[in-house]
Amino acid sequence: MKKKEHWNTDQIRQYNRSLVLKLIYKEGPVSKAEISKKSELTFATIGNITTELLEIEAIRESGYGKSNGGRRPILYEFNWDNYYVIALDIGVTQVSAALVNFKGSIYHQHEVSMSDPSNKPNLIEKVYKVIDELVSQADLSFSKIVGIGVSAPGPIDEDDGKILTPPNLHGVKNVNIKALLEQRYELTTVLEKDANAAALAEQWFGSAGSKGNILYIFADQGIGGGIIIDSRIYRGYKNGAGEIGHISIDIDGPKCNCGNFGCLEALASGIALVKRVKQEIRRGSKSSLSALYLNDEAELTLETIMEHGKNGDPLVQHILNEIGRYLGIGVTNAMNFFSPTTVIFGGQMIELYPEIIQVTEEIAKDRVFSEFAHDIPFIKSSFGNQSSLMGAASIIQQKIFDYPENILI
Ligand SMILES: [Zn+2]
Repeated sequence: MKKKEHWNTDQIRQYNRSLVLKLIYKEGPVSKAEISKKSELTFATIGNITTELLEIEAIRESGYGKSNGGRRPILYEFNWDNYYVIALDIGVTQVSAALVNFKGSIYHQHEVSMSDPSNKPNLIEKVYKVIDELVSQADLSFSKIVGIGVSAPGPIDEDDGKILTPPNLHGVKNVNIKALLEQRYELTTVLEKDANAAALAEQWFGSAGSKGNILYIFADQGIGGGIIIDSRIYRGYKNGAGEIGHISIDIDGPKCNCGNFGCLEALASGIALVKRVKQEIRRGSKSSLSALYLNDEAELTLETIMEHGKNGDPLVQHILNEIGRYLGIGVTNAMNFFSPTTVIFGGQMIELYPEIIQVTEEIAKDRVFSEFAHDIPFIKSSFGNQSSLMGAASIIQQKIFDYPENILI
């Protein structure tokens, strides 16, 4: 888009409407005077825009504010009951979908398992199935649904809305999910990498607040990351940013799936944890998991191991402590480089053993360069195992507020 001073009247009108709608969404119930103050638009412009937004029921009146001497001002709020989005989360073992309102409340949710996700037609069939069933089960008029947000494992082409070649979904290649869904449901669709989407959800709906820069660490089977700068996902060239899992921690460390050595993911991921526990048991370390391992190696899943860690198994706790230390070094590197205002942790390992955050925080704050970094909160994700699903809702909602003309107006 051209620079703001070169916009034509239509572009200015579109920008102003988007600005006012966003302010009413975020700050409502709010008076015209407050909107005028925050948007720096004239009272007359706000009057015209609110009249239009009321006509199409994008906003509604919501009581009266405090009087400043004269009549009490009418307050306006976003019409929460009028709009929903479909959030779709493509995971390794299941596809989940939810109807989510603009407050981030899930109205209805549905999932189907993906026992064999290993080819493209199968994935597309599951995606259609989960959305069709979600919409038919929910007692909600389809006309209230204004868009679809999709979160999927990377790599993706965000511009084209294509899932490229995710290593965890073997056989799924170049799925143009945006085009397929837009054609079938006639709804604006946005695709985002799962960790990026989860990071945005923290800011859009979560406890991180609407300002500042977020570093989001997704500690699960692998280690992903997301960066939010000024409320926007920072993607870098061709979506390459945020790969904190592949920060080098140990130049002589174990080989990583990416081909490099000593990456954070090779040392501190769920997969690395399972490997380490098995190795230690073989070496004769004492653990409540030894008998299970000797009976059937396949029973040593991440969940089982974390469960034993929670119940006090010394071997697992020792390794988890080490993982927290590695994460601490990774986070220190990322903090020194981009100085976030909040560090948020999500993923299965954090959900099952949130104590990792404390170890990570101790290490990072002990080593980080900037003395101001000591004030930065280290927090757990607000959405547990729904974080990428809520991420899917947040990416489409952000898109809708950027271009409300096309969708809400
Ligand atoms: Zn790597």
